Amino acid sequence: MGINVLVTGGAGYIGSHACKSLSLAGHTPVTYDNLVHGHSWAVKWGPLVEGDLHNGITLRETLRKHNIQAVMHFAAFAYVGESMQDPGKYFRNNVANTVTLLDAMVEEGVKNIVFSSTCATYGEPGESPIRETLPQQPVNPYGESKLFIEKALKWYSQAHGIRYGALRYFNAAGADPEGEIGEEHDPETHLIPLVIQAALGQREDVQIFGSDYPTPDGSCVRDYIHVTDLASAHLKAIERLAAGSDSFAVNLGTGKGHSVKEVIAAVERISGYPVNARECDRRPGDPPALVAAPGLANALLDWVPEYSDLKTIVGTALRWHAMKLNNSGSALSA
Ligand code: UDP
Repeated sequence: MGINVLVTGGAGYIGSHACKSLSLAGHTPVTYDNLVHGHSWAVKWGPLVEGDLHNGITLRETLRKHNIQAVMHFAAFAYVGESMQDPGKYFRNNVANTVTLLDAMVEEGVKNIVFSSTCATYGEPGESPIRETLPQQPVNPYGESKLFIEKALKWYSQAHGIRYGALRYFNAAGADPEGEIGEEHDPETHLIPLVIQAALGQREDVQIFGSDYPTPDGSCVRDYIHVTDLASAHLKAIERLAAGSDSFAVNLGTGKGHSVKEVIAAVERISGYPVNARECDRRPGDPPALVAAPGLANALLDWVPEYSDLKTIVGTALRWHAMKLNNSGSALSA
C-alpha cells in the first residue's frame, strides 16, 4: 500500500527525481521546499508546501495535514567551497534546521527517515574503494554538517525510536531518462553540467582542476552515480524502513571511477562538439580519487545502478541541457 512521504527539498535536483520514483511506485510525495534553490516546475508528482525547514510549526502542521508516514530529507546546502567560507550557513541550515525537522517528527510520531548524506563525510580516506567502515573525518564544514546529522540520528533513534537510512552519495549526475526533470543549479559548479555547457557553446571553456594527481591521467577520479539510480535507492530505503528494518548507513556509488579528462572526452564523443578544456591548479580540498565500495547497498537494498554508465549519464544530461537551451530560444541545438 502506498504511503505519504514528506520530501524536503523535493523541488531540487535529486529530490524531484525521488518524487517521481515514489509516485511511480504508488506512494504520495509531499514536497516541502522554500524554493530558494528548488524550482516549482520540478514539483510534478504531488503537492508542494512552500516552507522553511527552521519553521517547526509549519513542519508539524504539514506532517499532520498530509498524514505523513515517512520523510526523505534532501533539503540542504551542498557547496563545499561556500561551506569553507561560511561555515555558519551550513551549520544553521544543514544541522540546526534538520534537528528542528527531527523534533517535529518526534512530536508528530513519524518514525522513518531517509537522510541524504555524502561521501564528503569520509574526508580524505586513505583507501579506495571506500567502505562504510572507514573512519568518517570530514575536511570541510559541508561534510561535517552531514556527519553531525548521521550522529544525531543515532541518538534520536535511541531516545525516540526514529529509524533511519543514511545514504552517502558519491557524485550525483545525469537527468531523468524521460526528459521530465534535470539539473539546474545557480551557480553551476559541477563538472558534468559545466562540460556540457562548454560543448553547447554556453561557456567558453572548462577548467581541469589539477592534472598532477597520482591517477592514471593526472586528473581527479570520481564515482558518478545517475540521479535516477539515487532515486530508486531512496525508494528502496524508505520501503525497507516501512517494512520494519533496523537503521542503516550505506554508500551510493557504482564502484567505478572516471577521471575529469575521461568525462570531457565522453561529452565530446556523445555531443559531437569539441570542448575547450584548460588545465588549472588543483581545487583546495579535492582528494585525488573517491570511489565507493557499493556492495553493502547492493545487498541491503537489493539495489543495482541501471543508468550509471558514463554514456547514459552524459547522454541524459546532454538531452536535458540541450532542451533547456532550445526552450530559451537560442539558435544552438544538440
Ligand atoms: N572539476 C573540474 N573542473 C570544474 C569542476 C569540477 O576539474 O570546473 C573536478 C573536481 O575537481 C572534481 C570533479 O571534477 O575532481 C567533480 O567535481 P564536482 O564539483 O562535479 O563534484 P564534487 O566532487 O566536488 O562533489
